[in-house]
Amino acid sequence: MKSYTVAELLSSETLVQEVIVKGWVRTFRANRFIALNDGSTIHNIQCVVDFENTNEDTLNRIGTGAAVSIKGELVESQGKGQKVEVQVNEITILGDADQEEVSKTILQPKRHTLEKLREQAHLRTRTNTFSAVMRLRSSLSFAIHKYFNDNGFYYMHTPIITASDAEGAGETFRVTTLDPQNPPLDEEGNVDYSKDFFGKETNLTVSGQLEAETYAMSLGKVYTFGPTFRAENSNTSRHLSEFWMIEPEVAFMDLAGNMDLAEDFMKSVLSYILEHNPDDLAFLEDRLIQEDKSKPQAERSEMTLIEKLRFVVDNNFKRVSYTEAIDILRNSKPNKKKKFKYLINEWGADLQSEHERFLVEKHFKCPVILFDYPANIKAFYMRLNEDEKTVRAMDILFPGIGEIVGGSQREERLDVLKEKMAALNIPEEELWWYLDLRKYGTAVHSGFGLGFERLVMFATGMSNIRDVIPYPRTPLNAEF
Ligand code: ATP
Ligand code: MN
Repeated sequence: MKSYTVAELLSSETLVQEVIVKGWVRTFRANRFIALNDGSTIHNIQCVVDFENTNEDTLNRIGTGAAVSIKGELVESQGKGQKVEVQVNEITILGDADQEEVSKTILQPKRHTLEKLREQAHLRTRTNTFSAVMRLRSSLSFAIHKYFNDNGFYYMHTPIITASDAEGAGETFRVTTLDPQNPPLDEEGNVDYSKDFFGKETNLTVSGQLEAETYAMSLGKVYTFGPTFRAENSNTSRHLSEFWMIEPEVAFMDLAGNMDLAEDFMKSVLSYILEHNPDDLAFLEDRLIQEDKSKPQAERSEMTLIEKLRFVVDNNFKRVSYTEAIDILRNSKPNKKKKFKYLINEWGADLQSEHERFLVEKHFKCPVILFDYPANIKAFYMRLNEDEKTVRAMDILFPGIGEIVGGSQREERLDVLKEKMAALNIPEEELWWYLDLRKYGTAVHSGFGLGFERLVMFATGMSNIRDVIPYPRTPLNAEF
């Protein structure tokens, strides 16, 4: 007798005489109807127990949360709500779940807040919302690898422990084996990191970009997809201390090519889930529609989740220079009425998330690529433009998310790069290998970084980044 997943049974074209299906009981009602889920789909399969011919003890042990194995027949359903169901011939309890204990957990079938679910993150994928989010997360990961593989990119693994903190992408987590109570000190009384494990100060990576550049300058088209760490103490709904980043890097590609790549990539991975995950998306879409009902009219979304995804796939991203964006912001209503927390007065101002969201949600109402930023608000490695004031940087802004991608054409000229590093006090010795790329066959090259969780947020409509990663790491929180 063959074991089937719930997904297989529900999509089966033919009725099957004998099946085995294993899963967890979501609900058991009227001593007769089990709603069984095994994680293979958002839908449960109904399993009908012949209670008159099932022993009392077994019946008592069928409860929410229990793991069971069912042998039975896949038949057309008599009731409403499902096409097929399993007529149970034999049921084995694989793992009990005490109903008294269950009632204290989020397994109890009722509405729980997302905060409550976060406290029981080890159980939350037994709920529809989180199983849908995590299946989509998995599907998006696959789509990302598929996109790059189909387009001739090599997947490279950049180090997680690094010694280069020169990049300035954010605060780092130190990696050390020194005894915090009693570290070795140098003559000046400072901690002597030459005695540390690696013989120098090391930290968890904030980005794999610099290393990825070295591989782009030999393998041509590469990408990384791995964990990154930032000790930024910003408790926002869009920042994690540990998150996953996708970083393609391509030789002989300029900023325009970089924008084309990023746009094509985003459209492709979102199309992939529209095609392959319709049930999970439909569930999450409905969840948002229900949520919207409790909001005032003005705060409700104009588009449903699937409409938003289609909109991104079907429309060109709006490309706007930083200078144009500043003009728009300076003359905007919230700026004139002093509604922004940070008012935009002059060229050179760094854009805050309130400005990004105004541009993308109120002004353009579509994904926006901002490019050619002032040099002094961007990283040292970005290619200086001929105006000597701006760099070939780009940020992609998404509705509801703000910045989702940050990228640039990289400075390929050795002298300009050295000048830039000197001005920022970045020692050449630390990045000698990075400078070498500009000595031996330097060339135009570009890349970007996409925060994977921000993409999952957009794709699922979840509004807190803690709800799109299995076990979120944030300031003061590393449970599980
Ligand atoms: P932000 O302004 O939102 O903090 P950033 O400018 O620090 O972003 P980059 O250093 O350009 O971001 O990193 C590339 C991408 O990584 C960002 O576009 C974003 O999608 C993602 N990202 C950055 N920081 C975080 C974080 N703490 N948690 C999750 N994703 C992040
Ligand atoms: Mn940041």
